[in-house]
Parts: sequence; C-alpha cells; structure tokens
Amino acid sequence: MGGETPVTAGQQQHRRSWAEPWKVKMVEPLRMTTREQRESALGEAGYNTFLLRSDDVYIDLLTDSGTNAMSDRQWAALMLGDEAYAGSRNFYELEAAILEVYGFAHMVPTHQGRGAEHLLSQCAIKPGQLVPGNMYFTTTREHQERAGGVFVDVIVDQAHDPENLDPFKGNVDLSKLEEVILRGGPQGVAYLSLAATVNMAGGQPVSMRNLREVRELCRRHGVPVYLDATRLVENALFIQEREEGYRDRSIAEIVLEFCSLTDGAWMSAKKDSLVNIGGWLAVNDEGLFEEIRNLVIVFEGLHTYGGLAGRDMAAMAVGIKESIQDDHVRSRVGQVRYLGELLLGAGIPMVKPVGGHGVFLDASRFYPHLPQDAFPAQTLAAELYLDSGIRGMERGIVSAGRDPKTGEHHRPRLELTRLAIPRRVYTQAHMDVVAESVEAVYARRSEASGLVMTHEPRYLRFFQARFEPRGS
Ligand SMILES: *Cc1c(COP(=O)(O)O)cnc(C)c1O
Repeated sequence: MGGETPVTAGQQQHRRSWAEPWKVKMVEPLRMTTREQRESALGEAGYNTFLLRSDDVYIDLLTDSGTNAMSDRQWAALMLGDEAYAGSRNFYELEAAILEVYGFAHMVPTHQGRGAEHLLSQCAIKPGQLVPGNMYFTTTREHQERAGGVFVDVIVDQAHDPENLDPFKGNVDLSKLEEVILRGGPQGVAYLSLAATVNMAGGQPVSMRNLREVRELCRRHGVPVYLDATRLVENALFIQEREEGYRDRSIAEIVLEFCSLTDGAWMSAKKDSLVNIGGWLAVNDEGLFEEIRNLVIVFEGLHTYGGLAGRDMAAMAVGIKESIQDDHVRSRVGQVRYLGELLLGAGIPMVKPVGGHGVFLDASRFYPHLPQDAFPAQTLAAELYLDSGIRGMERGIVSAGRDPKTGEHHRPRLELTRLAIPRRVYTQAHMDVVAESVEAVYARRSEASGLVMTHEPRYLRFFQARFEPRGS
C-alpha cells in the first residue's frame, strides 16, 4: 500500500498490508490465448467486450457484478437451501441479515438490482416527476425513465473531473438539489436517488456529513431519500479512512448509521454481498412497502423468494455478514488501490483518487487525438483485450446512450474504460499483468484510430452494440 494512504488506528493493530483474510481452497483454470486468437474473437464480438465469450478472456475485469468468489461458508449454505415456494427458511435468514446489517425491517428479495429498481420506480415515481440523483447509473435511470420520471444529475462538479482529488467526489451538490426541488414544486419530485459509492464517477464515495445535510434539506421539502446500497461497504471504508470522527468506527457501524439517514434502499447483491445473483428492495414507508410487496409478485416472484432460489437467499444472508468485516473490506479496496497505484506510478491517465471497485482509465486523455464520436473508451477496452486478453468495459458515450426526447447522444464529460476487480478472485500477480498490459497499450497509443458503431440497440445499447475499426 502506498505511503500516503491513511490507515486507521483500528487497522494498524492488525496488520500493515492489505493482504487477504482468506486462503485458496479450489482453483478454476484459465485458457491462455494468442494475439491471433484474440483478434478473431474480438472481430466476431463486434469490438464490444460484452460480446466476447468468457472462454476467450484471461483476466476478466468486465465487471465486479456476480463475479465474486463465495466462501466455503456460503457454498455450505447453498446445501441448506429450503426450496419451498412460500415462506422459505432462507427468506427469514435473509430478512434477519438485512435488518441486522442495514437496519431495514421491510424488504422483498429480487432477482438482482434492476429488479428492485423496476419495483421502486413503478411504485414511487409519477409520470413527469423529477428524480434527482448523484450521477446516473445505466439501469437505474432506464427504470426511472420507463416510469415517466425525469432524471436530473445533482452530483458535485468535482465528480466530472478525473484529476480532482476531492475525497468525497460522490457527494450531492446541495444547491443543485435545492434548485431541482424548487423547480419541481411540492408534488414534482419523486425522491432523491442516492448512490454510495458512485459507480459512473469511478467508485467515488459520499460522506456521512453530506448525507446528513441532504437528508435535512429533503426532510424540509418532504422528499424521500432512497439509497442504491450496491457498494455501500466500500463507501463505508472511505468514510472510515477520510472522514473526521470515523477512524475508530467499524464498517458495520458506519453502514448502519448511513442507512439510518435514508428512507429505504435497493441492492444489487452481486456486488458487495459476495454472491453471484440476487438483490433486494427495502423501504420504511409501510404504505409504499405494501404496494411493492404486491407488485413483486407480478415481476419477480412471491414476496418470500422474489425470483431467487432458496439457496441463493441462503448464500446471500451469509455473504452480507462477511461483506461488512473490516479485514475483508480493507483487502478488497486495498487490491484495487494496489493496481491503481501501479498505474499512477506509470503515468497512466485515470480517475483520481482510486475508487472502491475498480480502476477507471481516462480514455479521452489516453487518446487525445480521437474525438468522442470515435469512441475512445470502447477503443481502449478493445486494445487491452487484444494486447493481453484482459477484458474491461466502456463507461463513456456508448454507455450514456441517447436522450429519450431529442434522440441525441448523451455526451458525458467522463469517457472512461473501467477495469472492475471481482472480489476474492484474482491475485496480486494478476494485477501486475494488468498494469503491464495497460502500460504496453499506452506506449502504442498514437497508433489507435478509433471505432465506428455498426449496430445500435435501442435500450442500454452498450451491452449489445457492434463496432468496426474506423477508416477500415
Ligand atoms: C450493478 C448495479 C445496479 C444494477 O444491479 P444488477 O444486479 O446488475 O441488476 C444498480 N446500481 C449500481 C450502482 C450497480 O453497480
């Protein structure tokens, strides 16, 4: 870990390094490929890393979603799955884990995060209402817009600047939020959609203090605060490290306090909760919860399984408790930071400070000669794959999609290629390979000519769009 990285007093008692609090019991062999094999695979995939077969990938940093390694305790819990249609024992275990860790008493399971986003958007947004949020997330905004909501970005300006070193670049800008609330009027704002950490900004955290101020402003205007808790444990580590007064507080305490300042939360358990599938939605308002519990049956499944097998809920209940252990969170973010510091040391342009779940390369500064219409971040993801079989993901103009009203591209200021690190999966040597490959691609950066889009799906286009090299 780098010399400047603050280490809390509690942490120092244990160890100096971020080394993992586990050992390996089973391995999954990987296939190594040649450059020729990768060229052919990428051509078949239309230069979109989402369309590659995972067998053709060496180190898969496409996403940290559902790609976690479960513990032996979680695998054991699978065997205790109670596959009853109604009232599965594992539902009650999950309910108890969410109450203990996040403090929410009323929840429904969902098949994954977007299932929860769908239910919340349908039940809590009236057509035409504004939905302020600290930067958009792809599936979140899609569901808000499908429900007739109008998303408005109220994140602090620093979030849009990859070079800005502010410790809490996920914070809500209070004056932007107040402007939206006044513009919308008493019935015109559905809720504040708050994510912690903020994925699209590079895994940047929200401070407890900001949430307290946001909560107070929203309370005065009768606007509820709903939290995307997908990566809240990573946010809690940043609060522990960076925010006055939290050095000696545990991750568990910080997570619980954070949630206590919200009116409910939704979760993609495929991230923090160390499982391969699952999610949930919890709200405090009993009337709203009643509606959600009714609607979950239409789209997900009965309210005691929500699209999941009993065994999935069992593994999630165990994963939730493992996810808030200080040693675990510290090693998870420590590994991300290790890779980030290697790249920063090599002068690679990227989002700073290094975020919680991955390294976000700044493709617009990586390829200053490419216009945004030549898809620099998509190009960089393709070049990395060709170089070493590492798979990353575009988080720029392709992911941002089009404005549903005007049909124009959304043009995000951030044009990023994300290397997301799965939890408990890769080693420090794998991170070294990633750094070497990024450096090799950077050394050849002037040769890149960009891409043209040859197929554009209507919704969430980044998943299935196809490209060809520009000028080929
Ligand atoms: C992944 C993700 C979601 C959506 O969850 P899925 O489980 O992929 O449906 C929502 N919000 C954030 C911040 C995410 O990273």
